[in-house]
Amino acid sequence: MNPRILRPESLADACALLSQDEDALVYGGGTALQILRKQGILSASSFVDISGIPGLNNLHHTGNELLVGPMVSIRRMETDPVVRESVPIASAAYAKVANPRVRNTATVGGNIAHGDYRLDPPVALLVLGATIKATSTAGTRAIPIDKFFIDFQLTALNRGEIVTSIEIPISNDVVASTFVKFSSLSANDWPSASAAAAIVARDGEAQILRLALGALAPTPVMTAVDITGMREAQATEAAVESAMLIMDPLPDVRGGVEYKRNLGRIAVENAVRNLWRDRQSV
Ligand SMILES: Cc1cc2nc3c(=O)[nH]c(=O)nc-3n(C[C@H](O)[C@H](O)[C@H](O)COP(=O)(O)OP(=O)(O)OC[C@H]3O[C@@H](n4cnc5c(N)ncnc54)[C@H](O)[C@@H]3O)c2cc1C
Repeated sequence: MNPRILRPESLADACALLSQDEDALVYGGGTALQILRKQGILSASSFVDISGIPGLNNLHHTGNELLVGPMVSIRRMETDPVVRESVPIASAAYAKVANPRVRNTATVGGNIAHGDYRLDPPVALLVLGATIKATSTAGTRAIPIDKFFIDFQLTALNRGEIVTSIEIPISNDVVASTFVKFSSLSANDWPSASAAAAIVARDGEAQILRLALGALAPTPVMTAVDITGMREAQATEAAVESAMLIMDPLPDVRGGVEYKRNLGRIAVENAVRNLWRDRQSV
């Protein structure tokens, strides 16, 4: 049976609908939901379409944060000049999702809630230290992104919670940042390995290299290395060593474990090379 489509006009109504029916699911852009439903992997009594709720597709720059509504499209994150200037690494990662058709339809909230281990944007959001706001009839809570991905296809969202905002810090301490993605089937495809990295200044002299990996473990994962005073070769070695410790690739149609570990290492090497090229001072 096809799920009913419910179209609440307020957040309170959407939360109430979800709390009354534990088989109801939030409907963002539907790009993941519709495929999973057609494949018979997912069933739902109803889809709660949140596209008609005012304010959920807003994008605000507050000076030190970018506040992104869940219904903002992935395409907007790729193209909006404010996003490109304030958090270029996030814009670069959203630009690498699938193809323009998917990017026009898929939403920022649906992307993160989907919880797939291969998603591109979460690795950039991890490096930037984003916070996810989730709302239900119990109220709104803030989930730091490094606590959001729990296990394979499992996020910290409780049943009935709606992602209502993603808060991305904008910091002058980010000296350089980069996103690297390797796909083995086609350029538009899911990654076999991805890496986001940033050099962050700390207390004047110190430099921290923040590094997140996608498709290389059951969830997106992150590590950080103190690279104060290091040259490029040393920083690359330290980053690779740290990355290898958090890699735990799942074999899939895009590659086996050893292939992905090798690709992961190359993604990290390329990321550090990009950072060294682009940084202002290290
Ligand atoms: C052909 C194809 C290729 C792809 N390639 C890539 C790729 O290369 N890289 C990549 O990162 N992704 C890729 N994707 C995945 C794509 O990013 C996701 O399908 C998309 O981001 C999901 O967003 P959506 O708005 O369509 O979510 P939906 O399909 O509407 O929902 C997805 C999940 O999130 C839940 N949900 C939706 N919105 C919310 C919300 N606000 N609050 C709480 N839960 C919510 C839904 O209930 C569902 O469980 C690909 C998808 C396709 C179809």
